[in-house]
Amino acid sequence: MGIQLKNLSHSKLNSYDWCPRKFELGYGQGIWPPPPPRLLLGRSFHVGMEYYMKAVYLRGTPSKTALEDAQTAMEYDYLFTQKGPDYEAVIPQGKMMIDAVVQSLQAYEISVESCEGWLRKNLSDMPFIGKADVLTAGVKSAHQNHGRTIIDWKTADKMYDQQKVDTDDQLTAYSWLTQGQYDTVAFVVVTKDPIEVQWFFGERTDEQIGLWKEKALNTWRMIREATVFPGQYDWHCDYCEYTPTYCQGRGEW
Ligand code: SF4
Repeated sequence: MGIQLKNLSHSKLNSYDWCPRKFELGYGQGIWPPPPPRLLLGRSFHVGMEYYMKAVYLRGTPSKTALEDAQTAMEYDYLFTQKGPDYEAVIPQGKMMIDAVVQSLQAYEISVESCEGWLRKNLSDMPFIGKADVLTAGVKSAHQNHGRTIIDWKTADKMYDQQKVDTDDQLTAYSWLTQGQYDTVAFVVVTKDPIEVQWFFGERTDEQIGLWKEKALNTWRMIREATVFPGQYDWHCDYCEYTPTYCQGRGEW
C-alpha cells in the first residue's frame, strides 16, 4: 500500500522529485528531522517579513516601529521556535537582512491584499494547496506597472538569475492556483553574505502552466502507484537532512 496524502503541494511534489526515499521518510513515516541551521534563519526571516507587511500595509503601523517589531519577531522565532544555533552571529545578520528588504520596498508602490494566504485548487482528484507570502492588487515601480502580483521572499546563499525565476516550479504553481487572477509572480531574493536584495518579476504563459500541470500530474501518478521509494544516492544527499541518522545517503554505495 502506497502513501496516503490528504492534499498535494509544491513541497510534496518537489520532495518526491528530489528523492522518493526522502519523500517516504517524511510523508510516509512522519519523520521530520530538524532542518539544517542554514535554513533556520530563512524561516525566522519569513516570520519577520510577515509581521512587517501586515503591520505596515494592512494595519498602517509606521514603518520604523514596524521594522523594529519585525526584527524582534524574527529574533524570538529564531531563539524560541527554531532554537537556532550561533545566536549572537545569526541574529544581527537576520536583522540586517530584514532591514535591507524593507529598504528595497521603498522603490515600489504596493497594494497588499493578504499575507501568508492559502491558495487551493483541485489537481485531478486531489486538493492542491500553496501559501503565498504576499498577494497584491498591484505593484508599481517608477518605470513599470507589474499589475496584480504574487510575491515570495527568498533567502539564499547566492543571488538568483532571471532564468531561474522564469522557470521556477513554485511560482508556476502559484500561477496555476490563481490562474486568471494575477498578472505577475515575483521573487524578492536576499543573500546572506554579503547582504544584497534583488526583485525579480516574471509571468507565466498558459503553455508553461500546462506543462507544469502535466509534470505535476505525472509526479502525483508516480506517488499514487509507488510501492517502493528508492533513494537517489547522489549529490542530492549532500543537502539532505535525513543523512546520516535515517539514511546513509551516498554512504550506502
Ligand atoms: S540521504 Fe540521499 S538517498 Fe537518503 S533520503 Fe536523503 S537524498 Fe534520499
